[in-house]
Amino acid sequence: MPTEENVRDSGSPVAIFDGHNDMLLRLVDQSSERAVEAFLEGRGTGHLDLPRLISGGFVGGLFAVFVPSPSSAMRGPKRTTKGYDTPAPPAMSQGEVLPSALAMTGLLHRLAEQSGGRFRVCTTVAQIQAARRDNAVAAVLHYEGAEAIDTECHTLDALYAAGLRSLGLVWSRPTAFGHGVPFRFPGSPDIGPGLTSAGRYLVRACNERGIAVDLSHLNAQGFWDVAGLSTAPLVASHSNAHALCPHTRNLTDDQLRAVRDSGGVVGLNFGTYFLRPDGGTSADTPVSVMVDHIDHMIDIMGDAHVGLGSDFDGIQASPIRDGADMQTLVAALRERGHDESRIARLTCDNWLRVLAQTWGE
Ligand code: ZN
Repeated sequence: MPTEENVRDSGSPVAIFDGHNDMLLRLVDQSSERAVEAFLEGRGTGHLDLPRLISGGFVGGLFAVFVPSPSSAMRGPKRTTKGYDTPAPPAMSQGEVLPSALAMTGLLHRLAEQSGGRFRVCTTVAQIQAARRDNAVAAVLHYEGAEAIDTECHTLDALYAAGLRSLGLVWSRPTAFGHGVPFRFPGSPDIGPGLTSAGRYLVRACNERGIAVDLSHLNAQGFWDVAGLSTAPLVASHSNAHALCPHTRNLTDDQLRAVRDSGGVVGLNFGTYFLRPDGGTSADTPVSVMVDHIDHMIDIMGDAHVGLGSDFDGIQASPIRDGADMQTLVAALRERGHDESRIARLTCDNWLRVLAQTWGE
């Protein structure tokens, strides 16, 4: 049944809680003053800033700290007969990633500090709901890849104190904890070995503290290791259906069922190469392709386990222009026949339920 909270007046946007963006990585390249200005005023570059978060209807989302591999370590995609294969870059050490990771963490807090209460770092769903009532945007701190964390988890506690409530064990490269999938199309996510013993220790440490363990970018063996070990709902913050787009980053139907059985959530990635059946990058991709993935995931998991994970500021082409354009997806969901209470689950409520359960609220 629709509740008062999830049915808005016809004029106001449907509430969005988004499972993944890389805005901090885009903004951290400039001075702190310029980054704050660009965020608060909006420059129209990239996908997200405060004006576009507000006009798009964002209640909030997970804001990723991601440290890219140095360009010297990156090898471009190799063409294959049906697609491409980008080799995973080598592992990075804690020392290599920590300065940039802390800079992005600091920037998130600086943006909140300078926003006059309109943008808040939240560590509980109660805080997210309070921000929602105040028409402020809630940011949850997420680390995409755990290189910044030592195997004894001392850094984990420091970052927890800084607001960390969601962690990916890997990006698409190996860590001390597990193995990420290389970007390959077409390709199976079943590449490489599972979690290391440090990875298993880290999953337990996250469970104990109430930090979500994000499965996007993890290989299949690692996924199943977490599924067998974690006491929290399974979360894949920005991955799509492998049955519709056979990219290594997407989830097979068996993986989707495991997420469902755990009570978890999968966030729809807006990047065309994770959406299109041909794995291509084309801005001409219709929004209906996004709804196709949502429909498939609902068929497999039911509508309580599907959410959004735009990957804004981390993807090239998307059927949705930027954060201000989110209601275009809402309109496409309506056009496909989804009703308002289901749309509220898909665009916001499923994420908040899973986070509340994971965080022990
Ligand atoms: Zn990612």
